[in-house]
Amino acid sequence: MNIFDLAGAPAEPSRALCSRKACRADAAWQLLWNNPKIHTPERRKIWLACPEHRAWLEDYLQTRGLWKETVPLSNAGVAGRAG
Ligand SMILES: [Zn+2]
Repeated sequence: MNIFDLAGAPAEPSRALCSRKACRADAAWQLLWNNPKIHTPERRKIWLACPEHRAWLEDYLQTRGLWKETVPLSNAGVAGRAG
């Protein structure tokens, strides 16, 4: 028997993680964006960002004219329903 089975510490990906490629940090922000070429105006896509990558992701979206709003993740209630 593996003692770690008893520890009961599952590595479930239930946390909200940063959307930056290769970043596994906890997200603290939601970046709301919309691509008018493919989305209806009221549609909002959501990227999650850790504090370190918030500015990077905002800049990425703003450069492309897609960025709408950045809101604290804590305001979102249950995490993991973005998509
Ligand atoms: Zn990050």
